[in-house]
Amino acid sequence: MSDLVPPAPYLLLTPGPASTSPTVKAAMLRDWCTWDRDYHDLVQQLRADLVALASDSAEVTAVLLQGSGTFAVEATVGSVVPPDGKLLVLDNGAYGRRIGEIAARLGIVHQVLRYAETCPVDPADINAALRADPQLSHVALVHCETTTGMLNPAAAVGEVVARHGRCFIVDAMSSFGGLPLSMDGLQADYLIASANKCLQGVPGCAFVLARRGRLAATAGWARSLSLDLWDQWREMEDGHGKWRYTSPTHVVRALAQAVAELQAEGGVTARHARYRANQQRLVAGLAALGVAALLPPELHSPVITAFREPDWPSYTFERFYAALKQRGFVIYPGKVSAAPTFRIGTIGHLFAEDIERLLDALAQTFHDLAA
Ligand SMILES: *Cc1c(COP(=O)(O)O)cnc(C)c1O
Repeated sequence: MSDLVPPAPYLLLTPGPASTSPTVKAAMLRDWCTWDRDYHDLVQQLRADLVALASDSAEVTAVLLQGSGTFAVEATVGSVVPPDGKLLVLDNGAYGRRIGEIAARLGIVHQVLRYAETCPVDPADINAALRADPQLSHVALVHCETTTGMLNPAAAVGEVVARHGRCFIVDAMSSFGGLPLSMDGLQADYLIASANKCLQGVPGCAFVLARRGRLAATAGWARSLSLDLWDQWREMEDGHGKWRYTSPTHVVRALAQAVAELQAEGGVTARHARYRANQQRLVAGLAALGVAALLPPELHSPVITAFREPDWPSYTFERFYAALKQRGFVIYPGKVSAAPTFRIGTIGHLFAEDIERLLDALAQTFHDLAA
């Protein structure tokens, strides 16, 4: 069936959607029923497999949701903070900022702790904020801030949140499946991710791992019908794999295939090693071409890296992007306000030989642009 997949015009070096294997794409070449036992069994197995990637506790459950990752973030924020609760939002990039925006739109009382985009959040500040305000019931943190590729100290934050007995929400969108992550290690109550980043599925569904005890207490709190996390969970539990509303069957089939391929690769540890090798080779190769990474190496994640744009008069991101795309690679514009950057993702169905080809293409592109 993979013969049916036409050759790609370019390789995606973006942090989502990420490139997928031919077999993941091939899983979508059939129409699948949404309500029968076969499909529901597949959904149940997928839920169990997703939980197993981050927890071995029977207390953790998975809720699948239609839509992109932001839908799952909005479903969680909008469903698990009680009407009289208050959310502490940790913001050191575009995705943390988006959580604050969601809370504002939904009329959820919240406080934002804002940092520079090149600065990890500080657990001591969170400790002080929680001590000062007992109304703060929930804390939301982005694990890998995709704006810069920076990793936040999620376990240290989780420790502070747990010590104060508050509830911890982690947006692990761009790290889940690609970095070793444990719900227990982070002391997270909710962990949010989507199909199309490190899991190497296609866009169209997302999921939330939740502690049953926490989620069970949230009935009736959701500010939205279609993004009601508790309701979606109950339907999946009671219907043994049934979704509310039309389920993205093709996307779910592709995700089940992608998770099987993650297991076959050797699990998250093996995938993490591949991504890290990709990222380190890329940083070294670009340094040799005179292009520096924005952050110091100890703050890098293997997911995506922001690089400082060259200051040649002839350089513009648009020209750079177009020239590289013509050579078969698609990258990402910068998202950092403080410095002109471009970003290159190193996740997805992407291997050492792809990075070597990319570095060749980058060298040629820079050569042409600098001329
Ligand atoms: C990609 C991403 C999101 C949002 O996902 P969409 O699929 O674009 O809605 C949220 N948080 C983080 C950290 C991300 O990397």
